[in-house]
Amino acid sequence: MVASRHPETISLHAGWRADPSTGAVAVPIYQTTSFQFRDTEHASNLFALKELGNIYTRIGNPTTDVLEQRVAALEGGAASLALASGQAASAFAIQNLARAGDNVVSSTDLYGGTWNLFANTMRDQGIEVRFVDPADPQAFARATDQRTRAYYAETLPNPKLTVFPIREVAEIGRPLGVPLIVDNTAAPVLCRPFDHGAAVVVYSSTKYLGGHGNSIGGLIVDSGTFDWAAHAKRQPALNTPDPSYHGAVWVEAVKPIGPVAYIIKARTTLLRDLGAPLSPFNAFLMLQGIETLALRMERHVRNTQAVTDFLVKRPEIARVIHPSQQKGESRRRADTYLKGGYGGLVGFELAAGRDAGRRFIDSLKLLYHVANIGDARSLAIHPASTTHSQLTPEEQLKTGVSDGYVRLSIGIEHIDDIVADLSQALDAAGTRAAAA
Ligand code: PLP
Repeated sequence: MVASRHPETISLHAGWRADPSTGAVAVPIYQTTSFQFRDTEHASNLFALKELGNIYTRIGNPTTDVLEQRVAALEGGAASLALASGQAASAFAIQNLARAGDNVVSSTDLYGGTWNLFANTMRDQGIEVRFVDPADPQAFARATDQRTRAYYAETLPNPKLTVFPIREVAEIGRPLGVPLIVDNTAAPVLCRPFDHGAAVVVYSSTKYLGGHGNSIGGLIVDSGTFDWAAHAKRQPALNTPDPSYHGAVWVEAVKPIGPVAYIIKARTTLLRDLGAPLSPFNAFLMLQGIETLALRMERHVRNTQAVTDFLVKRPEIARVIHPSQQKGESRRRADTYLKGGYGGLVGFELAAGRDAGRRFIDSLKLLYHVANIGDARSLAIHPASTTHSQLTPEEQLKTGVSDGYVRLSIGIEHIDDIVADLSQALDAAGTRAAAA
């Protein structure tokens, strides 16, 4: 593993040097389902976790392993697990700790798909997710009881863009044995949640990590710093015999490997049983994306700030949603937790309301109208009628989605071209509004 602490270097080098048999520098795509065992003892050692190695691509794969090491290194974590989507990562991150009858306390400021997962699918599985407003970190303490297994939040929530109080909430949870799980999808490189006390990081690598809008993927990263064994009653999933793995007590079973009970259990039980591995080909594409992650983030940040500065001057716009426009505690959190800029997302509300927002999107020529963020290309969407449409109007407002909200994910094109497209679309939306 490369020794550097700098994301520019880690993104190119961590987890891989060259292929030992061919010398290939690019990570090979090991497009295989299974791996030949040396002999029967080797096979049984692998299955018994006495030896680590490749068994079957549903559980692990050498191409994917490089991605897992690279992202763990970028985050300053101990190990990670790649999955087929960000949704699978969010679901596994919770299911790894919480069973039917347990609960999780989550920030209200979430991506719509995560809200649905928590409010409906998790509830159907017997796991209650208690939503609280992160403006008051103590709300997490008040919602906690003996069956609370984790706290959950997004660093730079999509689309509310109000940075989460990571340290404040992590410090409430640690003494209680409640880990903070942070979805860092919108803020890679800009924020390392482990530096602020988070225990687990979740990614949709579909977004900035992959960066080219060509593959869906997700990751869970284990910090290796959460003391699960000190909270045996609070965290039974890691501290009591697991009948699905010869009665393994995970905090004990992984001791020879390192402080990675959480992530090993996710791989050996949830991934084994529920599936959802990332394909080796998609792992390769994610690795390609990550090579330029730090550079792209710089440009995303710079372009988004320039777009924000442009939008605030336009008379048709009632409100611009971007950390640079926030004041007081929200701004302090943005400055504390985001280093190197405020990210690549910006939202706004047109004074003329929802219909004008629709006309604006229909008038765009350069920006794509798609349900994604974090692409190298600039993107736009109206969350209330798309990504957050399955939420009730009250739930939408809690996640920061008002009727007229338009979300932009600003890409790495030349800023003049981005601004020219926004400008002509605003003109078109405004003109037609006046004519209507
Ligand atoms: N987390 C955040 C913040 C997201 O924006 C998304 C998708 O938009 C997800 C998780 C889900 O990721 P995926 O689409 O890769 O399943």
